[in-house]
Amino acid sequence: MKQSLFFVPTLKDAPKDAEVKSHKLMSRAGLIKQVAAGIYTYLPLGYKVIQNIERIIREELEKIDASELLMPALQPSDLWKESGRWDKYGPELMRLTDRKNRDFCLGPTHEEIITQVVRDYVTSYKKLPLALYQIQTKFRDEMRPRFGLMRGREFIMKDAYTFSATNEGLDEWYKLFSKAYIDIFKRCGLDTKIVNSDVGQIGGDEADEFMVMSEVGEDNITYCDMCEYAANQEHSGLNEGDPCPICGAEVKVARGIEVGNIFKLGTKYSESMNAKFIDSNGKPQPMIMGCYGLGISRTLMASVEQHSTENGILWPKEISPFQVHIVPVNLKDEAQKDLAYEIYYDLKQKGIEVLLDDRAERAGVKFKDADLIGIPYRVVVGKDSGEGLVEFSDRFKETKQLIKKTEILDHI
Ligand code: ATP
Ligand code: MG
Repeated sequence: MKQSLFFVPTLKDAPKDAEVKSHKLMSRAGLIKQVAAGIYTYLPLGYKVIQNIERIIREELEKIDASELLMPALQPSDLWKESGRWDKYGPELMRLTDRKNRDFCLGPTHEEIITQVVRDYVTSYKKLPLALYQIQTKFRDEMRPRFGLMRGREFIMKDAYTFSATNEGLDEWYKLFSKAYIDIFKRCGLDTKIVNSDVGQIGGDEADEFMVMSEVGEDNITYCDMCEYAANQEHSGLNEGDPCPICGAEVKVARGIEVGNIFKLGTKYSESMNAKFIDSNGKPQPMIMGCYGLGISRTLMASVEQHSTENGILWPKEISPFQVHIVPVNLKDEAQKDLAYEIYYDLKQKGIEVLLDDRAERAGVKFKDADLIGIPYRVVVGKDSGEGLVEFSDRFKETKQLIKKTEILDHI
């Protein structure tokens, strides 16, 4: 992509209401633009990262044989009345009426819709187990939308639902999804802690959250350094220094960003919405469900928070919007211009995602923007162009070296 044509509106200053580093950087680097409180446009650079995260999710869920579908955002109240949540959900639910005065909501989550899908098709144990997921926009009228994409009123989530004939079947899915989540977050550059959590509005018997430990997190996590114990403070009620319920050592408390949450729903929705199957003895039984949420836009935000300084982002390789950034120092110099374009077309042809800064800007401006945008490999085409030499930086390893144009690929 040529930067002169790519829409990356970088800013000198972050919006005044941006409190945390990631929000400031995402605004300054031209990744997102606010439309209203908790509502954002994903600009091309930000949307590329979102698509990379989505690709990783699809790859990992393919491995555990979950099938992707797409449910509607607009949901009729009837189904929510069946589950009992129309009255219980409260002001976070975005409600609206159609021209015939029928009630609808904009889905904050999709248990009702998925249960309706499955109950109408799956009637026998022979069709179970089953795992379905979607990537979709969710709506929640949050009391305090803040920190950019961290707590939006409209946000992108991957939500998955499993249906099993037995509790053991549910346990198996639960383990598969836990493992898939750890892998997904790792590929997005995030180390996560699994913590025991409350079931909240979703309900069910048991739940775990995936937390990225960070000062800007909104949850307090109690955890133990001596053993595996970790829980949301909301759920555990423990304070710093209390004895660990597993090993007795003193627990610690730190902040975390919740990027995922998985639930053993059990039969909560299948009972209330009558999703039954005939078991191997010919008896009708409610399906045993699990649900698995992963905040895609929040994962993007968390990744920027973890992989940045005040001056710019440094993308984890798998989600970076581009792999290589070519920055010619002076495009008026024919040798530099020719070499920059030669490398650009060569890398593109080899399937590398590359951004060429072909703008008529001063070198200082280009370097500042490159630091802000944060592409992990940079090729500076400057005064040694005549000899076919470029300055190659691996921003992860913090190395910079003069190399031959033909050696670039070996360094990526
Ligand atoms: P929170 O406690 O942060 O309000 P939640 O527990 O209500 O979140 P879930 O219903 O578990 O959220 O949703 C699954 C995932 O969706 C969360 O783990 C989070 O990553 C993401 N998510 C939830 N609410 C928001 C939001 N308002 N903005 C962005 N992402 C969100
Ligand atoms: Mg949650």
